[in-house]
Amino acid sequence: MSVKCTKCGNQAYLKNYARTPGTLVGAATGVTATTAGAAAGGKAGAAIGAFFGPVGIGVGALAGLFLGALAAGTAGGYAGHKAGQLIDEDIIGIYHCPHCGHTFSL
Ligand SMILES: [Zn+2]
Repeated sequence: MSVKCTKCGNQAYLKNYARTPGTLVGAATGVTATTAGAAAGGKAGAAIGAFFGPVGIGVGALAGLFLGALAAGTAGGYAGHKAGQLIDEDIIGIYHCPHCGHTFSL
């Protein structure tokens, strides 16, 4: 979306108020979810590893733990980033003009 400055008519840019906090909150939520994801992954890994005996249970649980944690953390950060972006564009909607320094909202 292209927005023109209401003062000088040059290209203005969206001020990112919510995006960074959104990403952080999302990542934090993801970290919380990571514990659940890791536990679920660990269980699944152990179940798969059980086919290969006692050693397989340990290796499978570790791999599942790692993958579960990774998936949960990434998903949380991405969701938070997207939510922040939507808040910026649709709710806050504050634009800044780099040419004249004017800040305005639509
Ligand atoms: Zn301007």
